[in-house]
This record gives sequence, structure tokens and C-alpha cells, in this order.
Amino acid sequence: MLKKCTFCGKGTLTGKVVTRKGLAKSKGGTGSKIARSSKRKFFPNLQKMRILINQHPQTVYLCAKCIKKGNFQKII
Ligand SMILES: [Zn+2]
Repeated sequence: MLKKCTFCGKGTLTGKVVTRKGLAKSKGGTGSKIARSSKRKFFPNLQKMRILINQHPQTVYLCAKCIKKGNFQKII
């Protein structure tokens, strides 16, 4: 299931893990080179919550930043 923040739309981001080898030129080496790079994912801090949307209770995912703002009514 694709998880996204209901309020701001924040979701998973993709990036790379870059491994370098060699000594930097400033330290007297021949320069550092990229040895390998692999894909990785950056996950936002999403929490499952039950809140009121248009007077109806709904279970949604919210990011930590939107929870801190507190612009919603929580159901306990
Ligand atoms: Zn958010």
C-alpha cells in the first residue's frame, strides 16, 4: 500500500548510497573515486491515526510534522 501524509502529501523518496574509495588530493592521495552506488529509500515518519474529517471518523496516515501542528480533531 502506498503510504502518504493526508495533509501535506509527503511520501517515500528515492536516493543513492555512494561508496567512495581512495585518498583525497588535499591529503596527498590521487583523488577519491566512486566505487559503487546502490539505490535506497528515505521514509518519512508516518503514523496511523483516527481523526475526524468533515465530521466523519477516518483512519489516515499523518507525518510527524503535521501531528505537531495539530490542525485536526483526534478520536480516542
Ligand atoms: Zn504531513
